[in-house]
Amino acid sequence: MTTVVSHNPADPHETVVTTAAAGAAATARAVDRARAAQAVWASGGAAARSTALGRAAAAIEDAAGDLAALSVREVGKPLAEARAEAARTAAIWRYYAQFPYEPTGSVHESADGAGLLLTRRRPHGVAGLITPWNFPLAVPSWKAAPALAAGNAVVLKPAPQATACALLLAETLQRALPDGLFTVVPGGIEEGTALVGTADAVSFTGSTAVGATVVGAATARGIPVQAETGGLNAAIVLPDADIGRAATHIATALAGYAGQKCTATGRVIAVGTALEPLRAALAEELGKLPVGDPADPATVCGPLISRAARDRVRGAAAGLPVVAAGTAPDAAGWYTAPVVVEAPDGHPLLREEVFGPVAALLPARDLEEAVRINNSVPYGLVTSVHTAGLDAVLHVLDRLDTGMIRVNAPSAGVDFHLPFGGAKASGHGPREQGRAALEFYTAGRTYTLAP
Ligand code: NAD
Repeated sequence: MTTVVSHNPADPHETVVTTAAAGAAATARAVDRARAAQAVWASGGAAARSTALGRAAAAIEDAAGDLAALSVREVGKPLAEARAEAARTAAIWRYYAQFPYEPTGSVHESADGAGLLLTRRRPHGVAGLITPWNFPLAVPSWKAAPALAAGNAVVLKPAPQATACALLLAETLQRALPDGLFTVVPGGIEEGTALVGTADAVSFTGSTAVGATVVGAATARGIPVQAETGGLNAAIVLPDADIGRAATHIATALAGYAGQKCTATGRVIAVGTALEPLRAALAEELGKLPVGDPADPATVCGPLISRAARDRVRGAAAGLPVVAAGTAPDAAGWYTAPVVVEAPDGHPLLREEVFGPVAALLPARDLEEAVRINNSVPYGLVTSVHTAGLDAVLHVLDRLDTGMIRVNAPSAGVDFHLPFGGAKASGHGPREQGRAALEFYTAGRTYTLAP
């Protein structure tokens, strides 16, 4: 039997959980059990679903302290961010608790006037959720809550590095939800493959390469699939920006949670005369950025998830001229110093996601060149633009090949009641979050009612 083991990235000798991987057969059985529970859930009425989701929100609120503490230990999330994620997770369940009451269709007169036409959206059945380790509470929740609100059951295959968080999330939710509606199958590729092979719809978040495999397998089965994947996000700084404020935003977006966010800033594009003051401001910001123990509430940049990740991140910037750097603690965890570097044309830092606290500083002659640089990568998740006035950038916002654009805000940051998703290699299929999520978790039908 395969086991799943997770370790504390700040203290790698500490094992956080050891548990048996579900295996392919048990994953398929979990989908069958979920299907039985789903039939009752979908026909039980909006009030029952809304009440259960409200209970789920309350259960998460009660357990928020434990959930946050566990994500500090298991995935090295700095305590302040871990608390914020736990609070946001409860808010996500509360937000979707209202959705069972939302309209599920529309009524139309038929063209010949003789009858009525109805449109109606119905749940798919069992939604298979495959999630990464970096948001172990919020990402499973922003998939599961809308799926359940729409009348589906869910089976979650979490990332192995975040297994304990997923099990505690499930234990918490199981106090609020009917049996069989939210099931976790611990494991890795085998369980993920089995879930894609048996679920009625698949929502994936993770790397672009795995996302392509999942989308291919789900598409071959003809089931709905969405994938939110990697990013190599740019921050564009115009000369009129408040450079100090821009540097603060960029420093937190590149080094917060050690850059282990799909929305982290990986490229800083300084337009014209913004370059020199920005260099100085970034050096000052990274120099004072708190790097260290994720259990310390002041920490912004904790450890990388694993030794392999730490080594890969260090290698990504090795040998490049340093513009700005923080300091990593001399401690046992997988720490690395956040850094901004200069990278020559064609360097991998300018086309591949690093998933660590590393960004490249790039000069641009003008805004047009900044847009071209922004669009020159395969990804298109978020761009942040820093400027004193919207008028300078309004005309280029639509030309950024990016799913989300944030003006005078860090690239990392999520409002869960609005659609979230990326362009190009950063995403596939309908958007997550907000009302858009309900579209993914339901299929449209049209009924013709003749007299
Ligand atoms: P990953 O792609 O390695 O794993 C994601 C999930 O897929 C895990 O649960 C993993 O076990 C599973 N998996 C692996 N191979 C599979 C297969 N062949 N079939 C089915 N499932 C399989 O990603 P990760 O390292 O856990 O997370 C980091 C990545 O996630 C980064 O690229 C980051 O940008 C991305 N991410 C994207 C978003 C977003 O919303 N766009 C949010 C968070 C993280």
